Amino acid sequence: MIERAPVETVPLEGSNPFELRIELSKDVPESIVKKSLETGDIGFLHSFTTGSAVDGPGIRLVAWTAGCQFRCLYCHNPDTWNMMNGMAVPLERAVAELNKYQHGLKIMAGGFTLSGGEPLMQDRFAVRLLTAAKGMGIHTALDTNGFLGERLTNEELEQIDLVLLDIKAWDPERHKQLVGKDVGPTLDFARRLAQQRRPIWLRYVLVPDLTDDQADINQLAVFAGGLGNVERVDVLPFHQMGRYKWEKLGINYALSDTKPPTPEVVKRVCEQFRSVGLKAY
Ligand code: SF4
Repeated sequence: MIERAPVETVPLEGSNPFELRIELSKDVPESIVKKSLETGDIGFLHSFTTGSAVDGPGIRLVAWTAGCQFRCLYCHNPDTWNMMNGMAVPLERAVAELNKYQHGLKIMAGGFTLSGGEPLMQDRFAVRLLTAAKGMGIHTALDTNGFLGERLTNEELEQIDLVLLDIKAWDPERHKQLVGKDVGPTLDFARRLAQQRRPIWLRYVLVPDLTDDQADINQLAVFAGGLGNVERVDVLPFHQMGRYKWEKLGINYALSDTKPPTPEVVKRVCEQFRSVGLKAY
């Protein structure tokens, strides 16, 4: 049986994004959801967390959106797949949360990161919240799988100081097996960000036997190196911290026996990105 946190006792601020949160908006009428998606007046959020040092430069305030169209086999937050698992948060309340931290974020040379789930499932809310942050003089970052990048206009891209672009795999077949969707739109978005000279930090989750193929990574590295706007690559070793969520949600988890990559493989992959002139960590 799934444990349900009562809506009224769930704070907007989470201790970390690995908290399981479900069905927090199940009573929101469909008409409100539809209108919210059109206007961005309300966002559906898993939580806000503070203090992240890995989601952009400096110390970050991160808002985790609910809703994702990918089904990554290694996803560590499957409770964010369904938008209705998130809390319905009026834009003003989310902006007030930003306001609380704006001074601290500036003095720590940090900023605000919108992550998920996939934030562009709620593109109007995402744009309005990022624009509000930018208006406060806060550095803004969008963590996205890029599949819906075409929903953003070039003017809207100007509100985003940094895109943390998750490219899940290079090979189209492997990408589809891994996430259930095509890689093409993500690569198109990367090219467009390059044309618009918007900086990218590329994120690559390294999973043994799934995304560690040397030839695939070489091709991805050549692509990323050729874009001219990739400031760094973060190679993220697969881990099992989200496993309990799959079990609680009763979803079949194919990677129960998968181990994190060895330090040698992580080093090799970083070297592959470095060999095309990129910084990789
Ligand atoms: S894109 Fe992110 S949130 Fe969506 S399934 Fe993949 S890892 Fe999970």
